[in-house]
Amino acid sequence: PRAPYDPNNIFAKILRGEIPCKKVYEDDFSLAFHDINPQAPVHLLVIPKGAYVSWDDFSEKAPAEEIAGFIRAVGQVAREAGLVDPGYRMLANVGGHGHQEVPHLHVHLFGGRQFYAMVP
Ligand code: 5GP
Repeated sequence: PRAPYDPNNIFAKILRGEIPCKKVYEDDFSLAFHDINPQAPVHLLVIPKGAYVSWDDFSEKAPAEEIAGFIRAVGQVAREAGLVDPGYRMLANVGGHGHQEVPHLHVHLFGGRQFYAMVP
């Protein structure tokens, strides 16, 4: 069973403008901003505006337009941040074993340094 969406999670508050963020991109379906505790010289988060807990419910329930828009946005944010030529890493944590801390889907974009083999 999947957890219900918590409308008081921190990213929902950012989407409602109740707490600030360092925004780098916004369109109809997506918002991107700097991670508050960066793990790389560039560490951005891209989130859909819809109420999705994780990749799991997003991939199953989101309208195709929202999915396509979000995927486009992730790519555009990486391009605008200058990450493409040197290269970058993206990941999304899902649920407890994934160590997902904020229950609103977010894709992490990491750049600005060399990454190494995945350490699962
Ligand atoms: P998770 O572990 O859920 O994949 O990642 C959550 C991320 O959200 C962490 O990297 C954490 O630093 C970031 N984060 C948590 N609270 C805030 C916040 O209030 N503002 C911003 N910009 N990032 C946050």
